[in-house]
Amino acid sequence: MIRFENVHKSFGKHEVLKGIDAEVDKGQVMCLIGASGSGKSTMLRCVNGLEDYQSGRISIDGETVDAHSSSIHAIRTRVAMVFQRFNLFPHMTALQNVMEGPIHVLGENRDEVRARAEEHLRRVGLAEKMDFYPTALSGGQQQRVAIARALAMRPDAILLDEPTSALDPEMVGEVLSVLRDLAQERMTMLIVTHEIQFAREVADGVIFLDQGRIAEHGSAEAVLSKPTHPRTQDFLRRVT
Ligand code: ADP
Ligand code: MG
Repeated sequence: MIRFENVHKSFGKHEVLKGIDAEVDKGQVMCLIGASGSGKSTMLRCVNGLEDYQSGRISIDGETVDAHSSSIHAIRTRVAMVFQRFNLFPHMTALQNVMEGPIHVLGENRDEVRARAEEHLRRVGLAEKMDFYPTALSGGQQQRVAIARALAMRPDAILLDEPTSALDPEMVGEVLSVLRDLAQERMTMLIVTHEIQFAREVADGVIFLDQGRIAEHGSAEAVLSKPTHPRTQDFLRRVT
């Protein structure tokens, strides 16, 4: 579903992705781990065209992702993104946040969108909070709204960039639990995370990124429990 073929990406002279080859199959959960600055966010942002790349190819279901092409809007509706800092619209309630994309981007019928948005918010445990503004919600609740908002676009895949890193520890569990449910429903997800235990339970595959290169790549068991690369071993010692 998501494929990277020898992808190179630079910011000016600074090469940040140095020949990335990776694949996320439909229904798979891929976790992306690595030290700060290794290129994880850049990799995600290239998938939905928030960043361009210089060479190689990224494709979604065979369609090349080109940040400068008009097809990028269609790709963004198929691949939703969830950010570390939620990025909800502050002047809209939880429900309005979830309804915004389907109405204004997909041009769908308001009543149908509302019914589905309510269902998504119930599904992430926010039935009682639909009419609350983001400032009245906890970080964990805001992130669950952001996930409901992504789901409302009926994406083929969801990219999540450290979805629990900005949360107080007591709220991490409620967000991971929503992601666990989505994984069980076979939602295709590429997740940047430092939650190694979560990755162990949920990921079909894990990629360890080191200074813009994939140093290690395999099943969660292989990469997280029996890493062979010294950089992976060192990284895991530091985060676990
Ligand atoms: P990670 O998410 O793994 O912490 P990033 O993908 O954010 O890493 O960053 C990888 C490298 O690219 C870092 O050295 C960072 O400073 C650099 N970088 C990221 N975004 C930009 C940008 N917009 N302009 C210049 N350099 C950037
Ligand atoms: Mg990052």
